[in-house]
Amino acid sequence: MSPEAVCVRCSAPVLETPGAPDAPWSCPAHGATRALWRPEEATYEAFAGHLSATDGFPTYVPWPMGPGWSVTDFAAVGDAPGRTRATLTCTSGTSELDGPVDAIVIAEEPGTGLGARCAGTRYDDPGIDILRRPPAARIRIGSQSVNLWDISTSSSDGEFDRSVVAGEAGGRWLWIVLRPASALLLLRDDWILRDVSHVGPQLVEMPFGGHRPVW
Ligand SMILES: [Zn+2]
Repeated sequence: MSPEAVCVRCSAPVLETPGAPDAPWSCPAHGATRALWRPEEATYEAFAGHLSATDGFPTYVPWPMGPGWSVTDFAAVGDAPGRTRATLTCTSGTSELDGPVDAIVIAEEPGTGLGARCAGTRYDDPGIDILRRPPAARIRIGSQSVNLWDISTSSSDGEFDRSVVAGEAGGRWLWIVLRPASALLLLRDDWILRDVSHVGPQLVEMPFGGHRPVW
């Protein structure tokens, strides 16, 4: 992983606050914050380090990955193994309809803020956006069916377009951010996510590297 912990909300380097176990990190802009760890480059070795650091917390990737797709990014929020708050992966590839596509998948504890940052929402948790509406998509995690709701994103950010869906899986928020926005249609055919946190040697077959997304 990156040798440096950065702020989950802005990626500024954070400082450790001695003697504050409940808020051990502080950001110059955000005050008390959570530490984000993101490798400089998405490699197999760095990913093995990520899985070891986030032991006990799921890391999801679309499975199987399409031909030519690779893991281009991943990250974790947390202070230590057993204290992970969030994981992120990005897989990137090309679809016939959309051209280059980034699919960012985040699993996080409520209030962490990583999903909101990647999605561009004004609030940390998607709860208020998904009440009393029918789900927009359904995916599978293993044998479990997971409902996902479309999430409206900040219109002030014109840097890139994206579609965002979110729901709940295993007691945590699950966010999927797809770029470009039209790539949402990829979710129509029963997408499957796999928790690779305990996959082991099969990971060798996963391709890593490529253009790292901005978020
Ligand atoms: Zn910050």
